[in-house]
Amino acid sequence: MRLSRYFLPILKDTPAEAQIVSHRLMLRAGMIRQEAAGIYAWLPLGLRVMKKIEQIVREEQNRAGAVELLMPTLQQADLWRESERYDDYGKEMLRIKDRHERDLLYGPTNEEMVTEIFRAYVRSYKSLPLNLYHIQWKFRDEIRPRFGIMRGREFLMKDAYSFDLDPAGARRAYNRMFVAYLRTFARMGLKSVPMRADTGPIGGELSHEFIVLADTGESQVYCDKTLIDMPVPDETVDFDGDLEPLIRARTDLYAATEEKHDAAEFETRVPEDRRLSARGIEVGHIFYFGTKYSKAMKAVVAGPDGQDHFVEMGSYGIGVSRLVGAIIEASHDEAGIIWPDAVAPFQVILTPINMHKSTRVAETSEKLYRQLTAAGIEVLLDDRDVRPGVKFAEAELIGIPHRVVIGDRGLEAGKLEYRHRRAAESVEFASDEALAFLQERLRGR
Ligand code: ATP
Ligand code: MG
Repeated sequence: MRLSRYFLPILKDTPAEAQIVSHRLMLRAGMIRQEAAGIYAWLPLGLRVMKKIEQIVREEQNRAGAVELLMPTLQQADLWRESERYDDYGKEMLRIKDRHERDLLYGPTNEEMVTEIFRAYVRSYKSLPLNLYHIQWKFRDEIRPRFGIMRGREFLMKDAYSFDLDPAGARRAYNRMFVAYLRTFARMGLKSVPMRADTGPIGGELSHEFIVLADTGESQVYCDKTLIDMPVPDETVDFDGDLEPLIRARTDLYAATEEKHDAAEFETRVPEDRRLSARGIEVGHIFYFGTKYSKAMKAVVAGPDGQDHFVEMGSYGIGVSRLVGAIIEASHDEAGIIWPDAVAPFQVILTPINMHKSTRVAETSEKLYRQLTAAGIEVLLDDRDVRPGVKFAEAELIGIPHRVVIGDRGLEAGKLEYRHRRAAESVEFASDEALAFLQERLRGR
């Protein structure tokens, strides 16, 4: 992408309304635009990051055996009357009437709809286990939308729903999602901690929230520090095997959100030097709620015993749009965002100096741009006729991890300059080995 032809509306000033760093940086870097309270347009740079996050979420859901579909954003109120949640959900639900005066709503979650789909098609335990998910916009009329896309009213969520014959099967489904979540957040460069959590309006007994520690987080959390640096299962993990030991290793250690915190238990179970009380951002939430919806909505399957059984269910959410903010909270400095490679909107930024005066700089930059693009690397070429200082500052603000400076001085000796967004110093490398040099840097992370 050529910056001269891109749409990157960078703001000079720090927007006064933004209280936390991720919101400030997203506005300044031209990633989002507020259209109404808690409702945002995703500008090109923001959209690229969100798509990367979405794809990682998708890959890990698929790896864990979940199956993607897409349910609509609008739902019929009658479905929610069946589960008796239509009235219970209260003012957070956006209610709409169509031209025939039928009650619709903008979905805040999809337990009812997915249960309706399930009961329409699945009759036998032989079709189980089944886990259906989608990545779709939700609307919750939050009383206090704030922190930009972190607590929006319209937001993108991945929500998965598992169906099993019995509680033991449902537990295995829960465990698969638990491990998928650990992997998902780790791939985005985040350290997430699963914590015992309240189930809220979704209902049920067993529930964990996945929390990313950050001072600006809305949740107060308590945990054993050991949890923070525990290694995450790699891609060879067997989702059909017994995941229980892997999960126990974590859930045996104390970790709870405020609602589930027990100060006395915390003190007995965790030695003082390992006690952590901190703020955190909820990026995911998993629930096992058994037959709550299948009973209300009569979703049954025939078991091996020939009898009908209410299907055992769980639901599993990830805040896809919230993650964009959470990653920035976890990875930035005074100059701007520092994207982890896996979610960076572009991998490499080329910063030519005086491109519009020096043919040598222009030609080298254009050639390198074509070469990297052809190699499948996502490159942003800063071909604008602006001062080098502006280019450097904006490259840092938007957080592209790998930067190459092309200048006359270096080219005289056949050199270009490389700097990782995190590094303090630049290094020189031979201009004619640029592709190999960068490929190595990209592989290195
Ligand atoms: P919260 O406690 O933050 O209000 P929740 O418990 O109501 O969230 P869930 O129903 O568990 O949310 O939704 C799954 C995930 O969707 C959450 O873990 C969070 O990452 C994300 N999410 C929920 N509400 C919002 C929101 N208003 N804006 C952005 N993301 C959200
Ligand atoms: Mg939650």
